Order: sequence, then C-alpha cells, then structure tokens
Amino acid sequence: MGIKIAKHAGFCFGVRRATGALESELEHYGNKRKILTLGRIIHNDKYVDEIRKKGVEEVSRADVDDIIRRADSGEEISLVIRAHGELREIVEKLQKCSERNENFRLLDCTCPYVRKVRKIAYDNSGEDKTFLLLGNPNHPEVEGIMSCVRGRGFALSNADEVEKLVETMAKNGDCENCISLAAQTTQNLDQWKKSVKNVKKVYTNAAIFDTICCVTQERQEEARELAEQSDMMIVIGSPDSSNSKRLCEIASEKCPNVYFVTDSSDCPKISDASINLSITAGASTPDSVIQEVYATMNEQIENFAEMLEDSLKTLNTGEIVEGIITSITPTEIHVDLGTKTTGVIAHDKAVDDPQAKLDEIFKVGDVIKAKVVKVSDIDGIATLDKTKVDSDANWERIVEAKESGETLEGKIVSVLPAGAIISINSVQVFIPASQSGVKKGDDLHQLLNTVQKVKIIETKPERKRAYASIRAVQREERKAQQEAFWSNLAEGQEFDGEVKSITDFGAFVDLGGVDGMVHTSELSWRRIRSPKEVVSVGDKIHVFVKSFDPEKKRISLGYKTEAMNPWNIFTAQYKEGDVADVKIVSLMPFGAFAEIVPGCDGLIHISQITDHKIGKPDEVLEVGQVVPAKITKIDNENHKVSLSMSALIEKEEPVAEENVLVYSDDEPVEEAAEEAVEAVEEAVDAAEEVAEAATEEAAE
Ligand code: SF4
Repeated sequence: MGIKIAKHAGFCFGVRRATGALESELEHYGNKRKILTLGRIIHNDKYVDEIRKKGVEEVSRADVDDIIRRADSGEEISLVIRAHGELREIVEKLQKCSERNENFRLLDCTCPYVRKVRKIAYDNSGEDKTFLLLGNPNHPEVEGIMSCVRGRGFALSNADEVEKLVETMAKNGDCENCISLAAQTTQNLDQWKKSVKNVKKVYTNAAIFDTICCVTQERQEEARELAEQSDMMIVIGSPDSSNSKRLCEIASEKCPNVYFVTDSSDCPKISDASINLSITAGASTPDSVIQEVYATMNEQIENFAEMLEDSLKTLNTGEIVEGIITSITPTEIHVDLGTKTTGVIAHDKAVDDPQAKLDEIFKVGDVIKAKVVKVSDIDGIATLDKTKVDSDANWERIVEAKESGETLEGKIVSVLPAGAIISINSVQVFIPASQSGVKKGDDLHQLLNTVQKVKIIETKPERKRAYASIRAVQREERKAQQEAFWSNLAEGQEFDGEVKSITDFGAFVDLGGVDGMVHTSELSWRRIRSPKEVVSVGDKIHVFVKSFDPEKKRISLGYKTEAMNPWNIFTAQYKEGDVADVKIVSLMPFGAFAEIVPGCDGLIHISQITDHKIGKPDEVLEVGQVVPAKITKIDNENHKVSLSMSALIEKEEPVAEENVLVYSDDEPVEEAAEEAVEAVEEAVDAAEEVAEAATEEAAE
C-alpha cells in the first residue's frame, strides 16, 4: 500500500543540461539579448510556457537564415540547440555565424550520448558502407543523426523493418561486409535486441553499436519492475515525447492499470485506498509536475483512509452528527453518516410542522446535522433528532431578536386557552391571547397553522422560554403604513374609501388606515339637513383630498363633483325652447315650482299655467303631478329657469273684434302681480342663503 516514485523519473542528464544552460543564459542575459531555442527545448507544455513568459522565443529551422542575418547585422542573440541535436548543415551554419559574430552566442546542448551516435553515423557511412538506425525517422534526434550519414543510410522504425531491409539487401548481394547498426538513444530495448538478431542472422560481421542511452535503459528497466509490483501505474509525459510513450508501453505489459498523464489535472480517480501505486515520468518531465501528481494521488489515498476510519467509528447517544441525505419519504429522512450505521430522522424529529412536506424542505444530497437519540447495532440504524439541534442553535437568535427588536416569522402550531404557540425555526414560543391580534372574545383557532410575524417581547433564558406578540408587529406595520400615507398625500388625490361613521356635520371615511372627513356641504349639491341623506355607514365612496394638515392629522375630503352638479346636468340636456316633462314640487300663490332634473327646479308662473286666468295654481295643479312644460328662459347667472305650460296650448282662432271684451284696467294689476312674485322669490333666496350659512357655521 502507498505510492512509489521511480528513481529515474523526470529530467535526464541531457535535458537537465540543456534546460540548465537556457536558464543560466536567461539569468545572465535575459534583459540584454534575444534568447531563442531551435525547436521546443523539451516536450513539456508547462515548462515551455514558463520560459516563454520570461521572454524566450521558440524558432524553427526555417527561421535560421533570418537569425543569421540578424546576427550579422549586430543583433545580440543567444540560440540554444536542444538535447536532441539538429541537422548537421544547420549546426555548421550557426557555428560559422558564431565564429564571426561576438554578438551571437550558440549554445549547442546536443546531449553527449546523441553526439556519440552522430559520430558513429558519420564514421560508418560513406563509400561501400550502409548505416542503419533503429528509430523513429520523423524524430528530430533521428533526423539529426541521419544528417551526419555521408552515403547510404536508413532510419527504421522497428525490428520488422530492419529484418525486411537486410533480407532484401542480402538477396541483392548488397554491401555484405560494410553494414552497421545503431539505435535512437531512447529506443525500446526489446526492439533493439530483435533488430540486432535480425541483422546478425544475415550479416554476421555487421558492426553493432548499442547506443541506447543508459539513462533510458535504467528508466525503462525500473518502469518494468515497478509495473510488476503495482496495481496502478502513472506515467507522466507529453504525447510528443517518444521516451515517455515507450515507458507507457513497457508498463502496460506488466500492469493492468496504466495511465499516461501530462500533469496532475489528468490524474485518475482511485476507488481503493489500499492499492499499490507507482509513478514514473519521461525525460522531459519537470520535478514540479511529478510532485504535483504525487500530491494529488496521495490526497486521494488519505481521503479514502479517512473515510475508511470514519466508517468504523461508533455512534454515541446524545452526540451531534453530520451526514448527507440519501433518501426522503413522506414520513422520514435517511442519512448517510459515513459509518456502517444509517441515520433515520422521523417527520416530527425533522420539522415542527406536522403538515410540512419533507421533500419540499429537504433534498437528497443536503448535509444535515442532528442529535443521536438511539443506536441499534442489530438493525444498523441510528435514530436522529434534527429539531433538537435546530432548537439549540436557534434559541440564541430568539434572544438576539428580543434585544434588537427584529421581526421573526413562524407557524402557529397549537392553540391553548390562554394563547397560541408559534414555532420559530424549531423554537416554540408562547403568544399570550392579548398579544395575538385576535379581538377579545374571538376564537384563537383562526390562527392555527397560519404563518405569522412576531416580535419577541420577553425571554427567560434559564428556562429557555420566550413570549411573542403579533399585535406589536401589526402596530409597527400600521405606523409604517400611516407614515407612508402621509408622506405621499397630496391635494386632489383620489381614494376609494369606506364610510366609517356619520355626524351632523359630515361623514368620516377610511382611506386605508387613515380617516378623512367629508363636510355635509361637500356631500351634495342640494341643500341637505344630514349626511345620512346621501351616504350610510359602510358605503364605499369615491372621494378626493381638498386639504390636509399632517400635524393635526386632519384630512378634508370632497365628494360632490362638478359632474354631479344638477345645474350642469340640466344645462347639458336642455336649452331655451325645449320641452320637458316636469314634476310639480311645490305650489305658491304666484305659481308652481317644478323639478326638471333632480336638484334643478323651474318656476311656472301662474300666468303660464293655463291659457286663461286662474286664481291659484292649485286650481289646476297638484304636488307630484308630472306635466309637460316649455323652457322659456334660462338664467345662467342666477341658476333660474322659467317654464310655461300655456306656451304648449294651441291658440284658438281669434274671435271677431266686436266680440272681445278688453279689460284694459287689468294690465297694471298683472304687472303689479309679477313684481310681487319676483319680490317674494328674492326674499325666499335670501332666506335660504341665511339658513345655509347658519348650518355651515353650526357644523364648524
Ligand atoms: S535520454 Fe539520454 S541521450 Fe537522451 S537526452 Fe537524455 S541523457 Fe541524453
């Protein structure tokens, strides 16, 4: 059990040498000269990214001529050739450039092991010689080595290709005495051995150069050994790195679970803390990446160990435990406590409200805290109580709310003769009947199961008892409402209110928590003796603000509007000359008053009642009678209307003049009568105005 890191993991000698040279150049000349690498310095994105941020630029073979031109023109440049080496002609060009330019520093970091192979390739090629290299033909190291071959040379990927080539050559009798074989430094050992065998069986005197780097050999041998001992193996490297890929191939032959990762973000998940895990890494893997992978895997193993330990832990009654909800039924909640025992919380031990639906309050995956009430090892069940934990935790909040005056919310869970019990976050608080907001004598049961806002008015910490008030909240809300009302109030503002009470001088109207008064004179355009003639208690009426006094908290309201004015209604409907059906409302010696529209009367002068002379109007008319009359005059200034019934009577043909009796003496009498009528009307108006003024005065 545990994690083993291969001794030969990470940077090899050649890579360390190249990266060391680059870092030293950066340290000394970082700000003074352009520092370039020909190709990627190593197969590791993270490292390459870091040096790029420090100003190092990666260039390709295609850039070399331009770099030489820049160096020749005096630019300060350092160029690093990586451990793989480079094409011979390019290296030679760069060397010449550095010899003629002091400002151009060439850091040829070709690994000494690679240099050795390049020399073998050079020495064993040429006339009548064939050089074979076992290696990936597209790999920069192989390209570099093959560029040193002077005559015929072949780069062959595997032992089969080697076998095929040598058999063809032998068949052709080609080059029997001058063949040589070498390997890419990171070549797979098995492939190398097979290739040697294949060459030897045809060319017994072939020159064989085992050029596989000893570091690579050791790394591969160690990977093989570790894979044999491991349940899981992690190989860290870049997908571009051939030595890393070979490590992965070797490990896979011996271990069933091999993971090829580039860094800790690719780490596999383990499902068993007791596995044997080994880590190795390719030659381009920085130590920091190996350490990150190790830390990630180690953390997983430690977490598993911790979970294992927890699962063996026993639970004790009274203990507060924490777990994860695994399932919810209408009657209980099941909790994973991370032990072999399953926690069960019954409905009434989860919430105070018997009506509450558990799946609306909790959900699977929630972390929940509860008190252990009972443990049954036989059933593997621990009975838990969440309300106890909640109650303890929330008692402090109740005490704080008493100090701060904060409003709390809860549900009324029971009703007693003297009050009600409200549950606030699982803390039960008593509301005395007098603080319930329910009118004296009314049934408190109307509060049951309702959600209420309360103020905590008293606490007794020693007994964990608290008392609350709904009334205090209502009072506060009312006050806030009133403040908002007064601050928004404006003259002309309209309200739909309710008549709350009526006095002799007006009606009081509730505008929504605040009362205003409509004066009697504001209720109707008619003269009324009492507001009751217009409104009744409980009526919903539309009113508007005439004036208000925020300090004295008085609001004068208006009810009657111009649209309700009888004169306006009358003039909108009738004009002089129109005929209306009018109702006789009173009879006077000089004529009859008749209602044209409600609230607007006109006078039918006695002379206008019939087409002949009468002594008194009641000879023809009676109160309540509806008669047609012509509107003969509208006095807009004094709001007076003259009516005539006689105007509607068709005149008879005039009789012969000699038959007409002319009472010329009557005319002065008629005129005198009319003047007397007008005098009486004026007297009546004056009397009415005096009476109205007296009424208003009395009201105020
Ligand atoms: S693997 Fe070997 S040959 Fe290749 S760079 Fe590293 S030390 Fe040099």
